[in-house]
Amino acid sequence: MLRCICGILLLALVLQVEAAGLTAAHLEVRIAIDPTGRTLHGAGTLDVPPGAATRVRLDRRFDAAEMQSEGKPLLRAQDRTDAWVLPAATTARRVTIRWQGTLDRLDPAMDHRDTLAAATPVTASEGTFLPAASHWYPSAEGLLETWRVALELPPGQRGLVPGRLLEERDDAQGYRAVFEFTHPGEGIDLMAGPYAITERTVTLADRSVRLRTWFAPGLEGLADGYLTSTADYLGLYERWIGPYPYTEFSVVSSPTPTGFGMPTLTYLGADVLKLPFIRATSLGHEVLHNWWGNGVYPDYARGNWSEGLTTFMADYHYKERESATAARDMRLGWLRDFAAVPEGSDQTLESFTARTHGASQIVGYHKAAMTFSMLRDLIGTEAFDRGVRAFWSARKFTVASWDDLRIAFEQASARDLRWFFAQWTARAGAPRIRIEHADRREVGGRWQVRITLAQDGPAYRLQVPVSVQTDQGSIPHLVDLAAGTGSAEFDVPQRPSAITLDPDLRLFRRLSTDEAPPILRDAMVHPDTAAVVLPSNSTWMDAARNLLAKLLDGGPRFVEGTPGRTTAPLVVIGSRADIEGYRSRLGLTAPPKAGPSGNAQVWVERVDGNVLLFIAARDPAALSALARPLPHYGKQSWLTFEGAKAVERGVWPPAAAQWRFD
Ligand SMILES: [Zn+2]
Repeated sequence: MLRCICGILLLALVLQVEAAGLTAAHLEVRIAIDPTGRTLHGAGTLDVPPGAATRVRLDRRFDAAEMQSEGKPLLRAQDRTDAWVLPAATTARRVTIRWQGTLDRLDPAMDHRDTLAAATPVTASEGTFLPAASHWYPSAEGLLETWRVALELPPGQRGLVPGRLLEERDDAQGYRAVFEFTHPGEGIDLMAGPYAITERTVTLADRSVRLRTWFAPGLEGLADGYLTSTADYLGLYERWIGPYPYTEFSVVSSPTPTGFGMPTLTYLGADVLKLPFIRATSLGHEVLHNWWGNGVYPDYARGNWSEGLTTFMADYHYKERESATAARDMRLGWLRDFAAVPEGSDQTLESFTARTHGASQIVGYHKAAMTFSMLRDLIGTEAFDRGVRAFWSARKFTVASWDDLRIAFEQASARDLRWFFAQWTARAGAPRIRIEHADRREVGGRWQVRITLAQDGPAYRLQVPVSVQTDQGSIPHLVDLAAGTGSAEFDVPQRPSAITLDPDLRLFRRLSTDEAPPILRDAMVHPDTAAVVLPSNSTWMDAARNLLAKLLDGGPRFVEGTPGRTTAPLVVIGSRADIEGYRSRLGLTAPPKAGPSGNAQVWVERVDGNVLLFIAARDPAALSALARPLPHYGKQSWLTFEGAKAVERGVWPPAAAQWRFD
């Protein structure tokens, strides 16, 4: 299961599978769930291939009425109460199992952080969600799985697990369905609810695929649009990468605001599904995960490349389809977000597993996507697409690493790419590039430009785009930079007025302060961000603590008094008058934007190189209202709120890194 849209998952199901780990266990079970009584009953068999002693896991909330092999009960593991020992064997082992237990009550008010913090099986008549990571069924530790699940639900409820639907009956006795998944998969997530099912069959290159929406009451009107978009995405990726590996795809609504991608389906919050842009963005991302993530599995121990490749071929691809400007804006957003990550605190792509906080998303999704963009710039679109297709056909349903990607692209481009992958996936951080010097002179009616670029060590190997401005327009050039400095000389027909460094933002690099105007994220992701609450009373303090717990990766940390010059970002909270008083004590002029309208204003400024985030609220209630929306606006520099609604927002304009001759 992959977590994408709101996915801040603290408990990822990370399987310790061997790179060639194709041996899979097979589960064949009948599951009955009663959402009203919150009970689950399960029975069946687990077949484990021959091999060393292993363990069978089942959450301790369940009562294992039967857990035996060869007619003998399995012994519980000594070190934990939720595991049983399966002895080594030279032949396949069959475990017979019967278990039952009570599920937690689904809390529809949970926000995404809450939902994800607990990998817990939850149920209610509005919805049931049993994530594989909650160990709701017996599984053999460390093995991929195939399965056949017969599901029984009371009347009015419908449900599914990933896989091919073999049988289905829905009548006064209730809902009965059988699902089969024959490829080695990472685990079984189960969803149920009072769903209305809408179905359509789409014909792909060589066969038909069953598309379905499983939508809660009130969403039926969205079904057709989702089915049409799903069919479009399947066609797009089948042509681009290779055949869709499954026989169905379902869009399933969730009562909580989560966004998950599993093989053959995506599980999206009902409120998320209603957002107009989801069909155009996140849906395609989740469909593509059937190739990357749920088709080829990332080797988590050596880095999860699947989010980066999916972001590049989905979210970023849609921007490229829209316009060159939209794609550039997305790259600028990524680079500006990365500029907010304190230097030295980001991880490498090889150590990224899953999104746990803002900074890991910036690396695992955005830096990785930009790495694929730079790779395509380097080897060309044709070779890139050949590499993608070769990687898919060689690696589907196996675990693959960045190394396997490198090999596929090396073969497709007939180039040695070890240096490229080493500098972008095994190294944290990003190059910081500047124009060290430039001069121009007129020679026989033309102009000769000489430019020297510099970077901090250890040096990256780069081809840096520059553009020379003349009064007849801009002329692009590439400058090789493989050491601390690199120079190039070229002729231009008109008198040059300036040179701009990487004007189109093709390189993943640390933007200069001028290129990266401050945004809220600068304060949100810094581990040492502190806060000062100007009104000294507990109502303001409680509202501030609640807001900052959701806003700051490092959680709320308060300082007293009127701190002036700080070395880490500072959040200043109070009424408009409090904040004006505070600012005048620091000698700051009127805030650049965020006028006095609305009942809360939020803006960020850079003062002496450090970031100050001001939150001016009419009263503690207006401050409390920001707790839900504000964490979603990390990319903004300023906002005005009416209650929880952002009525105005914007980003301070960036400046280009430029050398001016005049
Ligand atoms: Zn994703």
